[in-house]
Amino acid sequence: MSEATAPTGPEFGEGTHRTLTIVRGEGARLWDADGRSYVDLGASHGVGNLGASPPEVVAAVAEQARTLLYLGTGYGNPVRDDFLAALLRLLPPSFGRVFLSNSGTESVEAAIKIARSATGRPKVVAAMRGFHGRTLGALSATWRKELRAPFEPLVPEFVHVPFNDPAAVEAAVDERTALVLLEPVQGEGGVHVATGEFLRAARAAADRSGALLGFDEVQTGVGRTGRMFAFEHWGVVPDVLTLAKSLAGGVPIGATVTTPEVEARFRGSHHSTFGGNPLACAAGLAALRVAVRDRLPERAERLGRHALDRLAGLPSDRVREVRGLGLLLGVDLRERVAPALAALEARGFLALPAGATVLRLLPPLVIEEADWDAGLAAVREVVAGG
Ligand SMILES: *Cc1c(COP(=O)(O)O)cnc(C)c1O
Repeated sequence: MSEATAPTGPEFGEGTHRTLTIVRGEGARLWDADGRSYVDLGASHGVGNLGASPPEVVAAVAEQARTLLYLGTGYGNPVRDDFLAALLRLLPPSFGRVFLSNSGTESVEAAIKIARSATGRPKVVAAMRGFHGRTLGALSATWRKELRAPFEPLVPEFVHVPFNDPAAVEAAVDERTALVLLEPVQGEGGVHVATGEFLRAARAAADRSGALLGFDEVQTGVGRTGRMFAFEHWGVVPDVLTLAKSLAGGVPIGATVTTPEVEARFRGSHHSTFGGNPLACAAGLAALRVAVRDRLPERAERLGRHALDRLAGLPSDRVREVRGLGLLLGVDLRERVAPALAALEARGFLALPAGATVLRLLPPLVIEEADWDAGLAAVREVVAGG
């Protein structure tokens, strides 16, 4: 993470700027090679809603690996069927079709292809500060210039409107628009919660013009914001929903959920060799069962409210705003966030940035209350001296 450290080792890319090596985890605790323990306040960018190595997911993966590790999509499989049924049971009845892949960006690529094909239109309306992944299609919907510029030209016909500006989304969506793609809570872009007015305007604009409304819940899905899916907060139901990160409890997966009506209009083909493999589906089935059984959305809502209370009243010369929903929280600082992250790490707490100035907290939803309290106390201390 630290920008000052030079890359070491053979891995390509920015992930190699590392200062800390983690070898083991349990719940919201991670251990380094020397046996020092840390409280995880970042859940690997939202992969770890169930914590590190959740026992039920580990058991399901081990059992499935022994039974059938891999199967192409040309064959039916009961574990895949059970996982898809479990996922659809948690969603409004309008949904009924799922395309399975292996990551968040793939789930977004599928959403873009499905929308373009089903509508026969080219244009995608996304939001400023939005993040949707890094393959060329998803990157075209992503806002940040530094992520885009080295790879231009990107896919044509993508436009960005200011987040939470209902008039702007109404004006941008027209009869050339295939998809309006939004995060209900922007994660990477700095933790910004949508207003109901904005999401309803996007829904109405899509309906008026015949475009599809897509919500990217790769980070907000599976309980993170205090509902199983964030859109439930506003009751605005999209036509396409993208999921990944914690959907299979830590095993790679991506899912693009849509309606039978959209599927009926889809022309062409889209496919993933590893999509819907039994290992990921077994993990996903176990993960959804745990999330429901342990009422993780309710826990996220409760612990998130508590955090907003505990972080209230931080001095306004240091902190611009504290915001968020459930356990997706941002502390927007008036200075760069890197020193605060380093100070937290020195105290044994691993948090994340969201842009240059926002300290992002997205702990596993299973975090022990004592660990969460200690983490919040450490955040107060680090950003405000107590
Ligand atoms: C992380 C993220 C993605 C990309 O997921 P990958 O698995 O890294 O490809 C897409 N959309 C949102 C909202 C995300 O938070």
